[in-house]
Amino acid sequence: MSRMILVTGAAGFLGSHLCDLLLAEGNSVIGVDNLSTGNVANLSHLKSESRFNLRELDICQPFDVGKVDFVFNFASPASPVDYTRLGVETLLVGSAGTINTLEIARKYGAGYLHASTSECYGDPEVHPQVESYWGNVNPIGPRSVYDEAKRFSEATVMAYHRYHGVDTHLVRIFNTYGPRLQANDGRVISNLMVQALRGEPLTIYGDGSQTRSFCYVSDLIEGIVLLSRSQEHLPVNIGNPVEWTILECAREILDVTGSKSEIILKPLPQDDPTRRRPDITKARTLLGWEPKVKLRQGLENSLEYFRSCIASLV
Ligand code: NAD
Ligand code: UDP
Repeated sequence: MSRMILVTGAAGFLGSHLCDLLLAEGNSVIGVDNLSTGNVANLSHLKSESRFNLRELDICQPFDVGKVDFVFNFASPASPVDYTRLGVETLLVGSAGTINTLEIARKYGAGYLHASTSECYGDPEVHPQVESYWGNVNPIGPRSVYDEAKRFSEATVMAYHRYHGVDTHLVRIFNTYGPRLQANDGRVISNLMVQALRGEPLTIYGDGSQTRSFCYVSDLIEGIVLLSRSQEHLPVNIGNPVEWTILECAREILDVTGSKSEIILKPLPQDDPTRRRPDITKARTLLGWEPKVKLRQGLENSLEYFRSCIASLV
């Protein structure tokens, strides 16, 4: 069934891939973005697609794009470098922005899915992270502009479900990578891929023993679309449960790129989580979903994209 779908943050890394999948299924998509961290180049292949429309606007102001059947709310700075630079904007988009998009779902009786994050678990004391864990978040540290905005968003989404009967869904996204990940957003995969391809030293923060679990973008988007069609209203982790130390990840990147770059150690940012790995039992059971793409394959798939970025980066 073809539907009219609103995607906020459409010009971003994940939003643009989500638009692609929804359009490929035959839906019509209205993309909304203020281009604060996104890039219209991520949507340039959709220029002549009559079922796609991009509106440049800030979701922190109330807006109305007409009747929609579903809202995917992906707008927010997402990398530590971006959300630290745009601290107040991040708090606003996770509060006013979330409420404005929920109001659209409420007005039109549309379904709603919010892009939440593993950062809701903070520096987790429970490992791997299960959805029932409430997290260990510093409410006033440098990451709090993002973590608390996302936690406020989760509370707001649950309130619109409980008090206004909106058909809502919450996905807790774990570190995701792939083509269209901004090459200069400071995230570990983008930084290390660019450094390796340029033959520059790979910057490891701390001693590189902290862990992350990396999900390839096509796996993530598939899981999110399945969740949006489920009956589940409580948060669901979507991510790849294979856990890597940052040092192991750097070695894999050297291998895939064939780079001879050295590895250098830099100070660890404050409140950098020591470990992160999703328990995806809920997604497996509920959605029959699990990731297919191994880190090595995903990095290989991303090579050409990062090569093309290098030419345009200063
Ligand atoms: P991104 O920065 O590439 O995309 C975010 C998009 O939102 C950008 O295009 C940006 O311009 C837009 N935006 C920001 N503020 C806006 C506003 N006020 N109004 C309209 N548009 C606005 O980041 P991404 O990696 O694609 O992340 C997308 C979503 O997924 C975010 O909500 C992020 O928190 C969440 N997420 C991503 C990851 C990941 O690993 N990529 C992990 C956890 C959660
Ligand atoms: N990191 C690193 N070198 C870099 C960028 C990041 O060692 O050039 C580390 C960072 O300190 C963190 C992990 O890699 O421990 C993942 O960082 P990222 O910014 O990608 O996302 P996070 O999971 O911290 O939100």
